[in-house]
Amino acid sequence: MTDERPARTLVVGAGQAGISLVTALRELGDTAPVVLVGDEPEPPYERPPLSKSYLRGEHDRASLVFHDEGWFADRGVELVTGDAVVGIERDIASGRATTTSGRTLEFDRLALTTGAANRTLPVAEEHHESEGGSASPGATPGLHSIRTLADADRLAPELRRAREVVVVGGGFIGLEIAAGARLLGADVTVVEVAPRLLDRAVSPELAEAVRLAHERRGTRVLLQTGAVRVVVENGRAAGIELTDGTTLPADVVVVGIGVVPRTELAAQLGLVVEPRGIVVDRSALASDGATVAAGDCAVGPNPFRRGLGGLTRLESVAHATDQARAAAAALAGHPAAYDSVPWFWSDQGDLRLQMAGLPHGADRTVLRGDVATERFSLLSYRDGLLIAVESVGSPGDYLAVKRALEKGMTIEADAAVDATVPLKRLITEAPARDPS
Ligand SMILES: Cc1cc2nc3c(=O)[nH]c(=O)nc-3n(C[C@H](O)[C@H](O)[C@H](O)COP(=O)(O)OP(=O)(O)OC[C@H]3O[C@@H](n4cnc5c(N)ncnc54)[C@H](O)[C@@H]3O)c2cc1C
Repeated sequence: MTDERPARTLVVGAGQAGISLVTALRELGDTAPVVLVGDEPEPPYERPPLSKSYLRGEHDRASLVFHDEGWFADRGVELVTGDAVVGIERDIASGRATTTSGRTLEFDRLALTTGAANRTLPVAEEHHESEGGSASPGATPGLHSIRTLADADRLAPELRRAREVVVVGGGFIGLEIAAGARLLGADVTVVEVAPRLLDRAVSPELAEAVRLAHERRGTRVLLQTGAVRVVVENGRAAGIELTDGTTLPADVVVVGIGVVPRTELAAQLGLVVEPRGIVVDRSALASDGATVAAGDCAVGPNPFRRGLGGLTRLESVAHATDQARAAAAALAGHPAAYDSVPWFWSDQGDLRLQMAGLPHGADRTVLRGDVATERFSLLSYRDGLLIAVESVGSPGDYLAVKRALEKGMTIEADAAVDATVPLKRLITEAPARDPS
């Protein structure tokens, strides 16, 4: 840029990462004009309650929204809602984006915080022996999946009336919805193709404890059971066809089989993209060294893989927020390595899971407490070093480990076994963190 005007920032995607990035820019003292574009009709809002309290009618709509209009106006942020960026081009200095409504947005700095879209299951067409399409759940009554407030608004009333609910996918969101449906009085079956629940994200010990907890509450959990497609009768989802040819009947089907990162715009820009997301470095910079990306749409190195290498995509509020902060710093010209401890929670009915660190590659797991009482923690170790905690109903353990990891410290495994000793008393110095 040769003129004196301030750099114009365009942030595409007005979700958790988008709002966090804008907030961080202003906290960093960056006063340049920002346009934040979101394709949903609502201003940025928090998603976690959508599969939990909101679904059960215990959380009002307005309280989900992060900020009112005045907040954006006061900070010189133009919020565009209900409009999607569909075309984008840039060179290093500047670029332009076009939206569905025909707007052109010129920018000097660009952030992609486009999140992810839910994977779909084929839907059998009635009276046709076809493979079915990947009909979006919104199109078939009784068939649901939750990503947005609109999805939750559609599901909530159906769930309250449902008698038989089938949840396809035993991940966090599927299990949260299953627990909610059970509390609302439905018969619930969870269908999971993997040999365990929460396959990608947690230790096998936690996955098994969670399965038992759901079964104790009357939910049926079918592992190693593949769903082929959604069965439709009289224009409504009526169940799920399984790989063994049988059909599980249901009046409400909820599909929670993971997400696909929204990388279309990154691909248009010629950025390096892999199936798990837009590839970024520790500062949230994409391959052109100018565009930043953060949240569910991005994949990058994470120091908490402790030398295992590879790229990680974390789908969590904490990650979206912290990576967005790194992205803001990079846009403001002060790139800094993003090295926050990953943390996550999941409320499955009355079962509260809290996790910090990444348990991948653990060679030892220490159990504190009693799995049967649903108050316990699993501490993961690799090469004698504490790498993660997974707690159920034990917030003190979770907080102690999170704090230890944040300070680069450890807790000796043999001492941690004694659940009568608070973990915070056992935190000790650890060897320096592996920088890879
Ligand atoms: C139902 C549910 C429950 C969850 N529960 C938890 C939980 O308990 N704990 C936890 O830590 N995490 C939870 N998560 C995960 C967490 O909410 C996500 O990781 C987080 O929202 C990711 O933020 P993001 O900004 O990357 O994506 P999003 O929040 O999805 O925001 C991306 C936004 O960009 C928009 N967008 C995409 N492309 C365009 C475009 N071209 N133009 C304009 N707008 C566009 C999208 O529509 C979306 O509004 C949950 C997620 C869901 C869906």
